[in-house]
Amino acid sequence: MKFQFGKFGGQFVPEEVKKALDELEKAFQDAIKDPEFINEYLYYLKDYVGRPSSLYFAKNLSDICGGAKIFLKREDLNHTGAHKINNTIGQILLAKRMGKKKIIAETGAGQHGVATATAAAMFGMECEIFQGSLDIERQKLNVFKMEMLGAKVTGVNQGSKSLADAVDVAIDEWVKRIDDTFYLLGSVVGPHPYPTIVKYFQKIIGEETKQQFFEKENKLPDYLVACVGGGSNAMGFFNEFLEDQSVNLIGVEAAGKGLQTNQNAATLSLGRTGVIHGMRTKVLLDEHDRIKEVYSISAGLDYPGVGPEHAYLKETNRVNYFAISDREAVEAFQVLSKTEGIIPAIESAHAVAYAMKLAKKLPKDKSVIVNLSGRGDKDVESIEKYLKSQ
Ligand SMILES: *Cc1c(COP(=O)(O)O)cnc(C)c1O
Repeated sequence: MKFQFGKFGGQFVPEEVKKALDELEKAFQDAIKDPEFINEYLYYLKDYVGRPSSLYFAKNLSDICGGAKIFLKREDLNHTGAHKINNTIGQILLAKRMGKKKIIAETGAGQHGVATATAAAMFGMECEIFQGSLDIERQKLNVFKMEMLGAKVTGVNQGSKSLADAVDVAIDEWVKRIDDTFYLLGSVVGPHPYPTIVKYFQKIIGEETKQQFFEKENKLPDYLVACVGGGSNAMGFFNEFLEDQSVNLIGVEAAGKGLQTNQNAATLSLGRTGVIHGMRTKVLLDEHDRIKEVYSISAGLDYPGVGPEHAYLKETNRVNYFAISDREAVEAFQVLSKTEGIIPAIESAHAVAYAMKLAKKLPKDKSVIVNLSGRGDKDVESIEKYLKSQ
């Protein structure tokens, strides 16, 4: 088997799926060489999503930390409120080019489901979203949104009834409907070529950041910080800087209730090499090598695997990964809201929390850019509940 990222990646899937993945890879390679395809993708990112997203100097936040300058890449300002729409627009255009009429996707908290349903609505495609029945209960608002956008939400009742099971079912369904259906995966995970495709459609984040930072400061930044669930916002942010060795890249995972407890989602900090969802990567496994149940206050970081390129970037020490607990993330959520008037997604708040710790230790002429992957309207209620329970 071929591995795309050192010993990580690959295609751990049945033969029928391999054929579909080959077809997908050919279509993708062909599409990205076609200027018309790229122009159409960029057109929708600009006029529909609202790109470029701004790079904002968070002066108040920097001042209270008292060290390095902190900047925020405002993916929260995109249509639908997060980075995920960059990828769903790209993949839907690819689906259209391949002549597919129907879209299926998995979702955990519902963010990827909403971004997929949004793009499907705009391009007039039939859309079905698979979501764990537990998540359907916990994330009612996003279920209503997906339905409002014309998508069908199908509950998944197997296993832990959450994201990992929704991916399994979506892949199974894809095999049955491969002729007319496109599987729109939500992060840089899954069998090749998905991690490559999703990174391609998210790399605009880092491309814009580099240019915007040059315009403001006329140099490269010193640190980039992004949260890592599957790892798509981080990969899209880091990609443009991978060759710039002076730029320190930092991924932030969810430590949940702590790395010493069993309630976290810190795959790169605690995981072992294994296979999940068709890829070889780092996986949180128990003593019997079964995939662990993971936990984080943030539904978007609550995944027992991670994109294979992140496993590789950790092994080669190009990116450093740290974990931030629920408590630290909630605190950063409050601080950013009160000092800057920006309510971040609780996922993004993990990156903000780490950036604040880091900035405090650095001199004033250093710079830290946080990828603010999404807005926090969706989280206000659960943060309120968390604070009351403390
Ligand atoms: C889904 C989500 C994430 C986690 O996904 P990645 O693939 O790791 O980027 C992070 N932030 C927000 C706002 C999300 O919606």
